[in-house]
Amino acid sequence: MNCNLCDGELRKTKVGSKSLLFSLAMFVTGLIIFILIPVIGWVLGGVMMIVALLRGGSSKRVLRCRSCKAIAAELA
Ligand SMILES: [Zn+2]
Repeated sequence: MNCNLCDGELRKTKVGSKSLLFSLAMFVTGLIIFILIPVIGWVLGGVMMIVALLRGGSSKRVLRCRSCKAIAAELA
């Protein structure tokens, strides 16, 4: 299996989540809600922080071209 764009060699690599900054903002927002709003905020803020951690911590395994760095496919 070769690159669609330049026919270069593909190799497996890991890429971090692109939404790391978004996850961080979401975590902080969740924390603020958690602190400011009792009961409802504890649930809502808690869920937001957990979701943010799960999203931020994930990295994908992809097939990336050695030559042009294009990502050809995402692996499960
Ligand atoms: Zn390529």
